[in-house]
Order: sequence, then structure tokens, then C-alpha cells
Amino acid sequence: MHGKVVAITGASRGIGAAAARVFVQAGAQVALMARDADALQMLAAELGAQAMALPCDVADAGSVSAAIDAISAKWGRLDVLVNNAGMIDPIARLADARAEDWSRAIDVNLKGVFHGVQAALPVMRAQGSGTVLTVSSGAAHKPYEGWSAYCCGKAGAAMLTRALHLEEGDWLRVMGLSPGTVATEMQRRIRASGVNPVSQIDWADHIPADWPARALLWMCGTAADPHRGTELSLRDETLRKEIGLT
Ligand code: NAP
Repeated sequence: MHGKVVAITGASRGIGAAAARVFVQAGAQVALMARDADALQMLAAELGAQAMALPCDVADAGSVSAAIDAISAKWGRLDVLVNNAGMIDPIARLADARAEDWSRAIDVNLKGVFHGVQAALPVMRAQGSGTVLTVSSGAAHKPYEGWSAYCCGKAGAAMLTRALHLEEGDWLRVMGLSPGTVATEMQRRIRASGVNPVSQIDWADHIPADWPARALLWMCGTAADPHRGTELSLRDETLRKEIGLT
């Protein structure tokens, strides 16, 4: 990844922060994007000159395009966009969910991905290459009680991966990653809700955030090319072995 520039949304904690560490270790320049400016600054300080903190809200198209502009201004290119920012709330049955909360989840989990793609495409097109990786979920393909907003947002984002591959796949590498369950703040929130079987999963059964982080790095290499336009699942043992996750 030496000489490559990577933008990661949702980099203030969890999978995004782990991915930032993995990509920096692999030699990339990494732009850290999320709303918590203090957390981003702390991570950027830990990672050194290869990292840049860019506070932004993915639900806001202008905020995302300003961050991508800042990356171009500083590093002059953008090789990889990792659409990782996401939220589980509102955890509520359809009958009870507040319309504003449901709408906000779609703004972040689905429109946030669209905003990232729209901002990144012109830069990547000008280079003639790029990789767009979107963190998906099993919830994109299966409904879970109390998670209608999350499931619909992730299902939409999974379709966006396919649509982007259809339109730009001849020059752009596009893939999704469904990580399985990962030991992060999001799973703590799910556990505390007590809603649906995912909240009952033993904490020890969640994989560490480093695993999807390493999978995202692997997806930037040619070994992942047969998966272009598709979504990879880290529940797949064969894939785990291929990536070297144990
Ligand atoms: P997490 O620890 O809660 O992290 C979520 C990240 O998204 C944070 O950095 C948060 O930063 C950022 N974010 C949320 N809303 C944002 C917004 N409006 N604008 C910019 N950034 C925003 O959860 P995680 O487990 O690492 O989740 C990362 C991704 O993995 C999500 O897309 C999630 O749906 C997906 N995923 C997770 C699991 C799991 O088991 N953990 C399973 C399947 C899929 P700020 O609060 O600072 O903005």
C-alpha cells in the first residue's frame, strides 16, 4: 500500500479504527473520517504523519465532499474508499420507531455510502483506478426483529455495491464485506438492548475488529479480484483461511 491513499469512514473507533491501523502499517496514507473529532485526533496522533483526521458526518453530502477535497489537496489522489460508518439505532419495532430516527439511520447507513461514492468517483476516475469497499452485514439479506431501519439501510448499501460495479466495474474495483459479528461498541449497544437473537450471542463468539480490518486490506490486493462486484462474508471459513485470519 506504499504510495496509496485510503479514506475510511467511521474511523473513530471499532472496525474503522482497526482498519486505519492496519492500512497505515501496510504503508498507506490514511484519512480518518467520522464525527468525533477528538477521537480522530487521538488516533491520528498515534498513527503519525501517514494519518489525517477529517471530522465529517457521512449523512451530509457537503461534509463528505469537503473531506474528499481535503484528501486530494493534501495527498493528490485517492486509491481506496472504505465505506464503514454505520449505526444500529433505532432499535425499535416498526410500529414503535420514530420516523426521524428511522430516516436518520437511512441517511447514515445508505445515503452515507452514496455520498462517499459520489465524492470519490471523480478523483478515482481522473486516476483511472480506485477501490470502493463497503462494510455490509448479514442484516442486509435477512430481517431481524427491531432492526428494520438497519436492515433496510444495509440492504440498500449492498445493492449500491452491485449498482456501482455494474456502472463502473470495468475500471473501478467494487466489493462489499459482511464481517459477521464483531466485538465493538455497536455489539455492546445491541447486547444492552436485549432485542432479537443477536443480542444474546456470547461475547466470546464475536471476532476482533482487527479481522475485518485485515480482510479490507486483503480486498485491496489482486487475490480479491475474483470477488469484484460481490459481497464477501467473513463467516466463510475458506475465505478466513485465504486471508490468514485465525
Ligand atoms: P462502532 O464501533 O459503533 O463504530 C461505528 C463508526 O461509525 C464510528 O466510528 C462512528 O463514529 C461512525 N459513524 C456513525 N455515524 C456516523 C456519521 N453520521 N458520520 C460519520 N461517521 C459515523 O461500530 P462497528 O462495529 O465498528 O461498525 C462499523 C461498520 O461495521 C458499520 O457499518 C456496521 O454496520 C458494520 N457491522 C458491524 C458489525 C458488528 O458486529 N460490530 C456487524 C456487521 C456489520 P462517530 O460516532 O465518531 O461519528
